[in-house]
Amino acid sequence: MSYTALYRKFRPSEFSDVKGQEHIVTTLKNQISADRIGHAYLFCGTRGTGKTTIAKIFARAVNCEHPVNGEPCGGCASCRAIAAGTSMNVIEIDAASNNGVDNIREIREEVAYSPTEGNYKVYIIDEVHMLSIGAFNALLKTLEEPPSYVIFILATTEAHKIPITILSRCQRYDFHRITTETIAARLQELMELEQVEVEARALTFVAKAGDGSMRDALSLLDQCIAFYLGQKLTYDHVLEVLGAVDVEVFGDFFEKICRQDVAGIVRKLEEIILQGRELSQFVTDFIWYLRNLLMLKSDQGMEEMLDVSSEHLLQMKEETKLTDMNTLMRYIRVFSELSGQLRYATQKRVLVEIALIKLCRPAMEQNYDSILQRLAQLEQKLESGRVTMAVQGANQEDHSSDAQSMNPKPEKVIPSALPEDLQLFISRFQELRKKTGNWSQFVLKGAQLRELPEHAGVQVILCKNHAVDEKELAEELERLILKELNVKMKVQVCTPENDFRPEEPMIDLSGLIDMKIEIDE
Ligand SMILES: [Zn+2]
Repeated sequence: MSYTALYRKFRPSEFSDVKGQEHIVTTLKNQISADRIGHAYLFCGTRGTGKTTIAKIFARAVNCEHPVNGEPCGGCASCRAIAAGTSMNVIEIDAASNNGVDNIREIREEVAYSPTEGNYKVYIIDEVHMLSIGAFNALLKTLEEPPSYVIFILATTEAHKIPITILSRCQRYDFHRITTETIAARLQELMELEQVEVEARALTFVAKAGDGSMRDALSLLDQCIAFYLGQKLTYDHVLEVLGAVDVEVFGDFFEKICRQDVAGIVRKLEEIILQGRELSQFVTDFIWYLRNLLMLKSDQGMEEMLDVSSEHLLQMKEETKLTDMNTLMRYIRVFSELSGQLRYATQKRVLVEIALIKLCRPAMEQNYDSILQRLAQLEQKLESGRVTMAVQGANQEDHSSDAQSMNPKPEKVIPSALPEDLQLFISRFQELRKKTGNWSQFVLKGAQLRELPEHAGVQVILCKNHAVDEKELAEELERLILKELNVKMKVQVCTPENDFRPEEPMIDLSGLIDMKIEIDE
């Protein structure tokens, strides 16, 4: 025996079985009871909310020989014929595949003949918004003067695509999204009938995943049951099969990001990975989640545009209060970039973690952006060979005289803590030493250097106690610096004995080079 999908097997056959659309059911039943049936109905609403189901029950009820309070009896010849699909009185048309003028003309020709049995010919046109303009015009002619025995039920998920001329001739019914509770209760009922053991929490999750659509929820439940056939269906099973991340998980994630709770986020990510979720899918879903938050934040009118149930909508509205639009856009940007990177990445988890941390540390991310930009510029210039190495000029007024081109050695790290002229002096110290007097040269050999506090100048520490006037030597060096480097710098000379800061570290002369990367602008 072939398997019948749950949503087919348990498609309601009576109005009272229809869940979540009481406002419509009541009106239709009253119309039937009072024999005030219209000739054109428009059923609007998202998929899986019961539009065609109600249309079919309605078709049976109007043709039933013994209707009870507007319900079809289910036992008479007409009810049975319609249920078996052998009745000529119910004609279903899928406008998605029959959208031409000819299809509608056929209907117009048929309409001319009254039903051989029963009271009404009911035409159910699904996805009616797919009709071509010509087809709509042809349909309009029939709607303008329908024979008394004809009922049209037009069903659509996109009422705004229906011409106003058609709309104005129909009784319009807007189908609600079905609440999670309603769907979950129905699922529970069906699982009892099917004798499938299932956790309540699992059903709630499936109901939520259905997001307002009973049909979707039933299809998802079908999948889960098929996967764990003969076993109790648990929450974890459902999560595994659907592989979907709950809106609550996203909400939790989002909240942690807004609170900059890095540890919490990384832990949460760990959980998700342990559950075997696919990270690329997770990232894509999260981008959509953020996008929906952005929509909600930007305009109250956007609520209708989001394909989200009212429960989720409430939760998401609360979340939008946690941050501003710019931040949301930044989050989306970071995650969109991530999504592109993940495609070819082997270490997806690390990339996702980095992105999450980036979201939590806006300052860091701003730097990152600017660094990336600067790196890109530098790369471009390196590629075009426009990078030169130059000796840093002595001061602002004149540094070109000392500049000389060298081979680029961009990998060398240059100490950056020292002001430029002090750095220059330190790097050229041995060269300058040879320009001092004979005795000074000798004395300065093996001397060590130290920066004076607050970049005020340089302290020269002789290697041992020489017979030298320290003050005089300092002045000689200051003059030399002025002459050679064109800068005024304070120099202090001392011996190991009178070193006033013996604990302070010396400058490491071995690691210094007299170069700086310069970029042509
Ligand atoms: Zn009947």
